[in-house]
Amino acid sequence: MVYYLLFLTITFISCSSESGNSHWWKEKAEQMVEKQIERRGIKDPRVLKVMRETPRHHFIPPHLEKMAYNDGPLPIGEGQTISQPYIVALMTELLELKGDEKMLEIGTGSGYQAAVLSALVSQVFSIEIVKNLVDSATVRLNKLGYKNITTRWGDGYIGWPEEAPFDGIIVTAAPDKIPQPLIDQLMVGGRLVVPTGTRRQELKIITKNDDGTIQSKNIIPVRFVPMVHPEDGNLDKGLEVDR
Ligand code: SAH
Repeated sequence: MVYYLLFLTITFISCSSESGNSHWWKEKAEQMVEKQIERRGIKDPRVLKVMRETPRHHFIPPHLEKMAYNDGPLPIGEGQTISQPYIVALMTELLELKGDEKMLEIGTGSGYQAAVLSALVSQVFSIEIVKNLVDSATVRLNKLGYKNITTRWGDGYIGWPEEAPFDGIIVTAAPDKIPQPLIDQLMVGGRLVVPTGTRRQELKIITKNDDGTIQSKNIIPVRFVPMVHPEDGNLDKGLEVDR
C-alpha cells in the first residue's frame, strides 16, 4: 500500500512537471514578453500578443525545451540558430503589419518566425536552403495547424518570383548586400527587413518608393548567420538554382 501510494505520488509529480503539463510554457512566454520585449520598447499590441501565444518550445530540439523562452538565440541543428525572441519581435514590429499582407521570409530555419507572421498576415511564403531544415519545419508547421504558410527548398537570393510582389519581406540570415531580386519582388510601399554585412552587421529597414527607388534606414547592430550562396559548396547537393 505504501509503495502504491508512493508510486501514485511520483506519477502525479511527474505529470505536473514541464513535460506533462501542456500549459507550463504560458507563464514563461508571458515573462519573456514582459521582461525581454516590452521593456526594450516593442509596443505593437498584435506583436506582443503573438509572441505570448506562439509555442516557441515546439521549434527547438527537445533537449533544449526548457531554454526556449530565455533571452538568447538557440541552436536548431545544421549549424543554424533560432533568433533571440526580442529580435524576432523587433523585426516583426518593423514590418508594420496590418493583417492582409502577403509576406516572404528568407531562411525558414525552425519555422518559428514564419509561425509568428502567420497569425499577423494573410499569407506567408518561406524559403530555406538546407533541405533537412525545410523538411522538418514543414512537418512541424503542419502538425501545429498553421494553414497559411507555404515553404520551399531553394535559394533566397533569387526570392520567389512566381508569387511576387510581396507586401513585406523578412530576411533572417545576413547577406553581405541586399539582393536585388528581393527589392524587385517588393511591392511599392512595402517594407523589407534585413540584416546586412559580414563581420559587422546592421539590421536595416528598406522601403520602396513609387518610382522604384529605395530608402534604407539602419536600426541596430545585430549578429545573424550568413546568408549563403549555393555555390559555396557547404549545402545539400542537388538544389536546383536558376542563377
Ligand atoms: N527564421 C528562422 C531562423 C533562421 S536562421 C527561425 O525562425 O527559426 C537562418 C536560416 O537561413 C538558416 O536556416 C539557413 O539555413 C538559412 N539560409 C542561409 N542562406 C540561405 C539562402 N541563401 N536561402 C535561403 N535560406 C538560407
